[in-house]
Amino acid sequence: MRTLIEKATILTMDNGGRLYLDGHVLFDENGILAVGSGACSQDADIRVDGRQGILMPGMINVHSHIPMIPFRSMGDDCPDRLRRFLFPLELEAMTPDLVYAAARYAACELLLSGVTSILDMYYFEDQVARACEETGIRAWVGETVIGQETCDSKTPYGGLPLCEELIRKWQGHKRIHPLVAPHATNTSSPQMLKAAYDLSVKYQVPYTLHVSEMDYEMSYFKEQYGKTPIAFLHDLGVLGERTIAVHCIHATGPDIRLLADTGTKVAHCIGANTKAGKGICPALDMRKAGVGIGIGSDGPSSGNTMDLFTQFKMIASFQKTKYRDRSAFPAREIVELGTMGGARVLGAEDEIGSIEIGKQADLVLLETKSVNMFPLYNPYSAIVYSANASNVDSVWVQGRQLVRGGRLMEMDLQTERDRLWAEMKEFRNCADKYQDML
Ligand SMILES: [Zn+2]
Repeated sequence: MRTLIEKATILTMDNGGRLYLDGHVLFDENGILAVGSGACSQDADIRVDGRQGILMPGMINVHSHIPMIPFRSMGDDCPDRLRRFLFPLELEAMTPDLVYAAARYAACELLLSGVTSILDMYYFEDQVARACEETGIRAWVGETVIGQETCDSKTPYGGLPLCEELIRKWQGHKRIHPLVAPHATNTSSPQMLKAAYDLSVKYQVPYTLHVSEMDYEMSYFKEQYGKTPIAFLHDLGVLGERTIAVHCIHATGPDIRLLADTGTKVAHCIGANTKAGKGICPALDMRKAGVGIGIGSDGPSSGNTMDLFTQFKMIASFQKTKYRDRSAFPAREIVELGTMGGARVLGAEDEIGSIEIGKQADLVLLETKSVNMFPLYNPYSAIVYSANASNVDSVWVQGRQLVRGGRLMEMDLQTERDRLWAEMKEFRNCADKYQDML
């Protein structure tokens, strides 16, 4: 089935930065067949009038914990909430069915906001993979490996064999890509961080973990090893092309050189980092050093929404303020981080991230008729500074249309919400005991 979108401003996000006014894109489920200005001379089964909207590559969210929807708006302002109630409540109340229902609901939110690829790390991750497979979103999924009892393993590090199971089950799938996800530098032993890395090498999959995020993490590594967490990971031999270091808020100059020299990628989660008052990742220094950066929303408990428009605005505001430079991170570079930047972080730059012949048709059409989108001089600026998720009109993943006119085509949001709410009954009972913190 060949689909032709015409009469749209097309931001290809290719290496040449090509932009087509009044352009067209022709594609099918195997990939993009044509892109250019004006009318397309080839035949199509479906024709979509872009109505002078903006067509961009599907957005790529490189860090989240999507089954944490039930935690959203819970204890947002509570200090040290990870240890005080997030870990305990997860342990008591997360079940495979709840993870599945929450992941389906999250997929609705992601698709409606124009996110077509998500990297997720959580527990019962096979249920996340199943939900993403069914809902049509593209996903990188990793079972969390951590040195404590979890909801899916009575023994510490039970995530490691589960991770291998996940890889064996899903490797080779067209849209669902397994990876290895130790929780953080300070929540797994060095031996287990290395064992997890070896697993990622064995199966040639990405490796991701939280790095240089917490103040107590920084002081622990300083006291214990006399080095930063990034230097520690480097000496352990787990930095490299397949490693995606999440947050890196406290990365130093030498840390940034280590990231650049080893080809380690960074997931920048500005919303979650600044909401928690943790600090601002030196993303501009990283970019100048040649470190590959993508954008993550973090989980709906930390970042609340999972769209990238929210992150775009915050990256602009916080990075410009940190460096006291209005010209730092111009809008086009921020859109690049959310598309090609994310694709490179995932090692999927030959497949997604830009609108080019031969790449997968992961596309987002933004309408420009709404009150917030007029006038429109620079489409990159409009996306970063003016647009929000409600401007997403249509979304395709792998050539399959999943959103049209701002509505899901294959799922019913109310049905998904009702299913999740019913599944949250026991979770809400458990949450009651933490009421004083929420
Ligand atoms: Zn996270």
